[in-house]
Amino acid sequence: MKNHIIIDFDSTFIKSESLDILAKTSNKCTKDSENKIADITKLGMNGKISFKNSLEKRIKLMNASIDDVKNTIKTIKNNISDSFIKNKKFIEENSENIYIISSGFIEIIHPIVREYGIKKKNIYANSFQFDLKGNINGYDKNNPLTKTKGKVKVLKKLKLDGLVHVIGDGYTDYEIKKEGYANFFYLYIENIKRESMIKKADFLLKSLDEFIEKIS
Ligand SMILES: [Mg+2]
Repeated sequence: MKNHIIIDFDSTFIKSESLDILAKTSNKCTKDSENKIADITKLGMNGKISFKNSLEKRIKLMNASIDDVKNTIKTIKNNISDSFIKNKKFIEENSENIYIISSGFIEIIHPIVREYGIKKKNIYANSFQFDLKGNINGYDKNNPLTKTKGKVKVLKKLKLDGLVHVIGDGYTDYEIKKEGYANFFYLYIENIKRESMIKKADFLLKSLDEFIEKIS
């Protein structure tokens, strides 16, 4: 049976949360706003507030521009999870069956994962909207990933035939399996171990190596 590998981006493919990095990069974002953004991210991760609510608040607090996005990409290139760098070849060789599904933003994710052979058609993420001066003034609200159970909606549409493996660190990753669109949920703990998620996982992964070993 064919294996489909669904991989989360923030705190899974990369070591931390891309929107937190963007907030730090934006010099129009105050230290106080930065802390608020990190708190909101955490609440969302643990399923404590709705994603839509969390995203709207964070984008406003961030006050970021297209240049901040470019600098964030540079920073993230140095913050890819160690075992993903180590297993670049595996990712490249299996890129047709790997999907990056993230509530993060395509403008940040695509430049990072394309270096691992992952094509845009296999990335499902949100997208920013900019004003004429290049400041982020919103995001595409029609994208299913702005909605509650967004990742589930994406999987439902993909209609993948075979075994579906979900690798991620948060509740929205687990939700895909919970709603019946994945066979296995692997809690990814190389970067962060969310205690509230442990019981929900089929397997815990300290690294991508452990996943590769499991499916080989
Ligand atoms: Mg994540």
